[in-house]
Amino acid sequence: MPTIGIDLGTTNSCVATYRNGRVEIIANDRGNRVTPSYVSFNDEERLVGEAAKDEATSNCENTLCEIKRLIGRTYDDPIVQSDMQLWGFDVINDDNKPKIPVVYTNKRMIFCPEQISAIVLEEMKITAEAFLDETVTDAVITVPAYFNDAQRKATRDAGKIAGLNVIGMINEPTAAAVAYGLDRQSKEERNVLIFDLGGGTFDVTIVKITDRQFYVKATGGDTHLGGEDFDNKLVNHFIEELKQQHNKDISKNKKAINRLRLACEDAKRKLSSSTKAKVQVDALHDGIDFRSNITRARFEDINHGYFKRILETVKKTLKDSGLIKEDIDEVVLVGGSTRVPKIREMLEKFFDYMELKKTINPDEAVAHGAAAYAEFISNNNDHNLKDFVLEDVTPLSIGIEILGRDMQVVIPRNTKTPTRRWHDVRTAHPEQTEMGVRIFEGERALTKDNHFLGEFTLSGIPVAPRGQGEADICLDINSSGVLHVFAVEKITGKSSELKIDMGKGRLLPNEIKRMIREAEVFRTNDEELKKRSKAMNLLEDLAYNIKEKIGKSKTSKLKSESMMGQVTEMLRWLDINQKEPVEMSVLDKKKEELEKICDQLSKN
Ligand code: ADP
Ligand code: MG
Repeated sequence: MPTIGIDLGTTNSCVATYRNGRVEIIANDRGNRVTPSYVSFNDEERLVGEAAKDEATSNCENTLCEIKRLIGRTYDDPIVQSDMQLWGFDVINDDNKPKIPVVYTNKRMIFCPEQISAIVLEEMKITAEAFLDETVTDAVITVPAYFNDAQRKATRDAGKIAGLNVIGMINEPTAAAVAYGLDRQSKEERNVLIFDLGGGTFDVTIVKITDRQFYVKATGGDTHLGGEDFDNKLVNHFIEELKQQHNKDISKNKKAINRLRLACEDAKRKLSSSTKAKVQVDALHDGIDFRSNITRARFEDINHGYFKRILETVKKTLKDSGLIKEDIDEVVLVGGSTRVPKIREMLEKFFDYMELKKTINPDEAVAHGAAAYAEFISNNNDHNLKDFVLEDVTPLSIGIEILGRDMQVVIPRNTKTPTRRWHDVRTAHPEQTEMGVRIFEGERALTKDNHFLGEFTLSGIPVAPRGQGEADICLDINSSGVLHVFAVEKITGKSSELKIDMGKGRLLPNEIKRMIREAEVFRTNDEELKKRSKAMNLLEDLAYNIKEKIGKSKTSKLKSESMMGQVTEMLRWLDINQKEPVEMSVLDKKKEELEKICDQLSKN
């Protein structure tokens, strides 16, 4: 059974598989090797990828993008609150979980981010199945190295909803390092810095690579920094310009913002090769045809703060790895935003004008590495993956709250994974038979400044003097970077192992089951629609074919006029019903009618 690697990006997704000793990147049905992470709903159908992105301006309320920015986050997260302002679609609050309402086949439907990501993942699965001509279920999905536990679990849930068996998750820069290392085929030990700047996230990972062995030394990043932020800065710049020049505030006009954003992204890309770009949007707002320019220098100035943050993260990660910049042998660029000249310039300067490696494709490297990793963990003993070793690290420290406020770190950041650490907790009062345990992730000293992961109560602790009631808490992080927590009560030696579901805000197992069923219904609907549309096309082809034949046939004038009348009627019917999903049984009948004419023609 084949396995696939999926790079589920904020902006673009990519799928790859490992066949005959090498990785193949799989093109989608439009022949493109990356697919925009867009999903769009309309009166008739659900669209994914390029087809969905094409609807971004005409149907912006129901065209969803950048959903990865919502995944694993709560509604009140300031990042969610600010991103929402710039999206053409709505985000609503459902018990502090962000949800997205859309209108699909004239019905209002509400989706959670996992469901939308699942639609993108499913599209990648379908792309792979079409290429491999067989069913694919086992997949490795990539996540930004700096994704926290909730974001990883939500991504895995999205995979399940998409009908995938997620055999592993791999950090995006680590996957890129694997692609780079396998491609380079050198036995020499090198310290490689992977710099991954995409649409929504930024990761920097330092990996020691020796032949096919990959040891991550340290990782750092920002789950909310990427090309889309540069676009947003440009949008805000032009909103201000519009205020000053036309005295108009377009900030509440979602459609206008969406159109301006597409124009800004376009201009930003142009600025990677030119020093000046035009931004033009016809009938942007109140009849204004917006026309403006932006220079590369201005773009760099507007985004100066982000560029600075990026370099600081590189420095911090280097420090965490225990290396100095002179120890770095190679810097590898991954992600679409590494095409920004200022970013390259900044990195080159920092690394004393070392040549940056552009030998791997920045858009495909992550999926490439994920496919190799999928092959490796699915136990196929491929010769090229012999001696493959991959050791990653945790991006964030994980700890337990003590004294109701302090963070007691149990697993420090950049600890090798998988890892399992025990931590004993004691009762604070005599007679205490219950103990609450709260778990957090983050680097701050006080838990209130860190990210709350979950809590549980250990009950039934035997009465013991203060400080003698004791339990062992086990924090276990698997190779996908996902945390599980266990507790063992020690006094009675019962050693009962509790598995605690830390999934606050996460989907419950029965919700996932329901969503899997819903996704199947969607899939069936989509397939049915595709089948009908194909049948309609065939019918139309047939009608035109017959029309041509009638013209050439030697049948009597009366007969051919009657046949021509029937065919013209059929074409009109097809035209009228072009937008309505016609039942297959009706289409079959229509086909029979045409076939009868065909028979008559062949008899003459
Ligand atoms: P993700 O992995 O987050 O989906 P990608 O690695 O595909 O993202 O990168 C997408 C980002 O790269 C977008 O913000 C896009 O605007 C940006 N990008 C692509 N090409 C260029 C370019 N030539 N110059 C600047 N930015 C670019
Ligand atoms: Mg990416």
